[in-house]
Amino acid sequence: MCQNADIGQKNGCAKPSFNTIQFKRQLIMKRYDSLRWILLAAGVIAILGLTSMNVYSLYELHESTIQVDRQPKKLQVAEFADKVRYRFFKPFWGLSSTNMERLKSRFSQDNQFTTAIHKRVKQAATDSIFKDIYFIPSSLDGCGQGESILKYDPEKEKLVWNDSYPAAVCDGMGIARTQMKALVKDYKYNNKVIFDTNRSVTLAFIDPSEHTIFGYLTMPLDQEYLKNDFLPSALNKHFGKSQQAGVNVWLRDWTNDNIIASSDPGVPYDHDKIQFKQRFPDFFDNWKLEVSFTNTPTIEASNSSLLKNLIVLGAAVLLLLGSLVFMFMSAQKERALAERQAGFLANVTHELKTPLAVMQAAGENLSDGRVKDQTRLKNYGTHIYNEAVRLRRMIEKLLDVAKADAGQSLIEPQPVNLDQLVQSYIDEQKSYIKSRGFALDVAIENDIPKAMVDIDSFETILGNLVENALKYSNEERYLGVSLEADDDNITLKVEDHGVGMPKKVISHIFDKFYRAEDTLTAQTKGHGLGLSIVKSLVELNGGSIRVSSEVGKGSIFTVTFPTLVNSPVEESQASAVDSSAMRSPSLTP
Ligand code: ADP
Repeated sequence: MCQNADIGQKNGCAKPSFNTIQFKRQLIMKRYDSLRWILLAAGVIAILGLTSMNVYSLYELHESTIQVDRQPKKLQVAEFADKVRYRFFKPFWGLSSTNMERLKSRFSQDNQFTTAIHKRVKQAATDSIFKDIYFIPSSLDGCGQGESILKYDPEKEKLVWNDSYPAAVCDGMGIARTQMKALVKDYKYNNKVIFDTNRSVTLAFIDPSEHTIFGYLTMPLDQEYLKNDFLPSALNKHFGKSQQAGVNVWLRDWTNDNIIASSDPGVPYDHDKIQFKQRFPDFFDNWKLEVSFTNTPTIEASNSSLLKNLIVLGAAVLLLLGSLVFMFMSAQKERALAERQAGFLANVTHELKTPLAVMQAAGENLSDGRVKDQTRLKNYGTHIYNEAVRLRRMIEKLLDVAKADAGQSLIEPQPVNLDQLVQSYIDEQKSYIKSRGFALDVAIENDIPKAMVDIDSFETILGNLVENALKYSNEERYLGVSLEADDDNITLKVEDHGVGMPKKVISHIFDKFYRAEDTLTAQTKGHGLGLSIVKSLVELNGGSIRVSSEVGKGSIFTVTFPTLVNSPVEESQASAVDSSAMRSPSLTP
């Protein structure tokens, strides 16, 4: 049973018309078109997504390699801060075993320490880091100028009363006293070390059983020794040269913004390059260790492998994106070509059928012998002739396409005088061109050298360009044909003052089956094959073609062939070529 109740009823069945098939085809094409765009977008997103994930993982891996490499160095810096701290405690190591009762009773007798403590104080007095050693019993009213406190005298090896001491002593003791006030209630050890930044260190003697403070042993630090000797050499000893250690460490006084010491004095401090900071635990509040890491072989290797990976990844992504876009563009082009081919097929079928139908009908009438009248007979004859010409032109064009597609094999280049070919073409077509109301301007230079060109090809090229100039001109009807030469090239120009073309159209005119979408083109007969044939033939003959055009002003098509460097053989070949051999294409319909 027939499904389509369309046009074209035959044998009782509805046959789908060409237009219906075209429409359905277009619909399917459109659907595929959207699908193609969606797939392209999905492809691009997938590639970009995968790339960013890969870049992220590469960076993560690189970062963790750096962290693993740097972690031990950070620990080394923390260890250094602890070591410095330990240095201040060292002279008083073992004080926890001090018997506070004995110390108190010994002190109450003559203001002196027990032998055990005395030994440690004596040892501390020889340590260059402490300037002097003072003891302020908590029984004293206060500490300040005029008040007497005890000072260890290394010569007499005992504590002596003293009323002239630096302010740092009372400041250090004051800080210790304030801290201990809060701590002493729950404190269970008999001593505590408290720093007044880098100025002094105070040892508080505590009686944990009574939760009282017995006194403060305060030692101002020797600033010169600390800054110029002890800390620089400690830093240098601990970290050595930056290249080996993998770090540069600076001791910086952040309150005064100055560098006190550094592990490698040869490396200048740069605040922006600091990657890690370490405070001192409980002491040197104004000072900080600032660290910049130098690249070890592991990090160098990780850096270069990251760079290599990124380059390879980048290249792969560009390649993938490039191929995807290329494939998409090719598919788009092929689709457009297929569409144009389908349109062409419809046109060609129509154009082949029409003259045949006219000729068939005219022939039928003539063969019947019914037409006797001379005028009608002549009319029928003219009809048949004209339609036959149309048919021939149509077939010729199709053959030209086939020829251009077949390539070199059908081209027979030979040395020719292009000026003669152009002139004979113009002579033949002049009257027709003028009858179409065109002003004809021909400029052929003298002494044009020969070119190695296939005569048929040249004829097709010139014929198509002139035909287009005539077809795509409205009010201003001008046709300019010129031929000129220099040492290297012969240049043919076909100029019109017609409708012209926008840039978007120009980029497609040499595509097969392409026709611009403007009113004049729509009204003009054509299949979008002429210029594609022209371009193929020009290139097959070793030439090139370009076009300059302006909408509303006209177009100039410029074809260039290389001149022939004459040789005797070529000369003789050339003389054998007669310009009349050119098959002048008829512009008449
Ligand atoms: P056809 O003329 O059969 O359409 P062509 O390949 O010769 O095919 O030309 C392709 C398209 O280029 C034409 O449809 C027309 O839009 C445009 N074109 C060609 N020559 C000219 C011209 N001289 N002026 C303006 N437009 C032109």
